Amino acid sequence: MSAAPVSDSLALIDLAGAEFRLVDPRAPHLRVDDLAPHRGDGIFETVLVTRLAGADHLHARELHFSRFRASAAMLDLPAPDPTLWHAALDAVIADHRERRGDDEAFTVRYSMSRGLAEASGWVLSIPLDAKYPGQRAHGIDVITLDKGFPAYVGQSAPWMLIGAKTLSYATNQAAARWAASQGVDDVIFLSHDGRVLEGPTANVVIRRGGELLTPDPKAGLLHGTTQQTIFAHAAEAGLLCSYTDLTVDDLTAADGVWLTSSARISVPLNTLDGEELRRDPELSEQMLAWVLGG
Ligand code: PLP
Repeated sequence: MSAAPVSDSLALIDLAGAEFRLVDPRAPHLRVDDLAPHRGDGIFETVLVTRLAGADHLHARELHFSRFRASAAMLDLPAPDPTLWHAALDAVIADHRERRGDDEAFTVRYSMSRGLAEASGWVLSIPLDAKYPGQRAHGIDVITLDKGFPAYVGQSAPWMLIGAKTLSYATNQAAARWAASQGVDDVIFLSHDGRVLEGPTANVVIRRGGELLTPDPKAGLLHGTTQQTIFAHAAEAGLLCSYTDLTVDDLTAADGVWLTSSARISVPLNTLDGEELRRDPELSEQMLAWVLGG
């Protein structure tokens, strides 16, 4: 697997003082006994930044921030102050652009940790993975993996933090390595009782005739901002958009299957568990235009 990309810009957030400061991302800032590196006890968002009409645009800003606020509430972390966090995001975006001096798209990741005595936060710019443009153009091969719990597990086990975007991503990372070891590009998790859930870092969207479908977040997955943006535009364009239970058979019978996320936007699947899938290049293009348009 490729090494983690190097960050250009970092803001540390002083939650108690309601202020932030830009610091050198290559210098050490986090104690090893902070509960983020120690336990993955925290939350984060990854957002896409592109040049739009000559200015930097942070895509789906409000959708991301409201999910961040919901994640904080689920983990009993302090409610994030929008003025403070948005100011830190804008400062990191401006600093990254100044350092890079180019027009390339990139991502910004913002996180809150339970910290030590009190919660802490930071905002970090991260270059985009170079493999995504090729995947968008040519599609990917994916296998399914059993996530090991039944669909809608959150109803009987609310402590599992279903729907929160937490920093506990070790199993998501392991699934990506598993995909590489099997010679494929990514995985789709299934519930133990056979419902389609999501990828390790992406949602699943399918087209069936004039409908776009995606699994219900309550089945045990993250409610994606990219999927929501695509659904909003698709509904305006006359497609019927619904959250529903899906099986592998629904995916193999679909007129198109995509993985969607802020960083990759939307990537069409070529095969699932070795079976050829139908492709819809026109809708793939349309999805990119919807997301990149604002
Ligand atoms: N599901 C998981 C587990 C994710 O980590 C992500 C994004 O990282 C998504 C879905 C897609 O969410 P979004 O479109 O908001 O980036």
